[in-house]
Amino acid sequence: MYYMIYVSQSTKPMLTPELEQLLQKSRAWNTSKSLSGLLIYRYSSEGKSGHFIQMLEGDKAEVRSVYDKIRLDKRHHTVLTLSEGNIENRMFSEWAMGFKNIDDATLSDLPGHARLGDSTFNPATFQQSNEEALKLLKFFHSAS
Ligand code: FAD
Repeated sequence: MYYMIYVSQSTKPMLTPELEQLLQKSRAWNTSKSLSGLLIYRYSSEGKSGHFIQMLEGDKAEVRSVYDKIRLDKRHHTVLTLSEGNIENRMFSEWAMGFKNIDDATLSDLPGHARLGDSTFNPATFQQSNEEALKLLKFFHSAS
């Protein structure tokens, strides 16, 4: 089993219908390819910027193939791979693509992640510590 985690910046604020459309298409594709994972979106009105964090897991060739398409998607940019490799078991076996749109209240509950999506958020800090991104994904998994 292979996994991939990346962070990216949304090109513009994503409205709910746009996120729903993205999720609907993604879930249909991911289900057909036995991919699972979690997508987190956080828009900060203060920072006027949005960020995605996504984990994808499944067959290595399928993970790589969909990631190649995702990277080219104009709805986001500055796509930064945080972590990839083999895992024994899926983390998100029940989700073709789980989704969390993080609001300010949720964010304040998150130790160490309060900057996600605000003007001072620097994805590179996640890259320096892959564990941080994994912790964030696990937090949302256990809260579901
Ligand atoms: P097409 O659907 O033909 O799209 C080609 C390009 O057109 C896209 O790259 C995009 O730039 C643009 N585009 C397409 N639809 C829209 C739209 N509604 N609004 C604006 N621009 C649009 N796909 C998955 O299958 N699984 C995933 O887990 C997944 N996760 C994603 C996570 C993020 C953060 C983003 C932004 C996209 C994700 N996608 C995912 C979508 C993926 O990037 C591709 O759009 C999708 O795989 C379809 O590929 P395609 O080559 O058929 O592209």
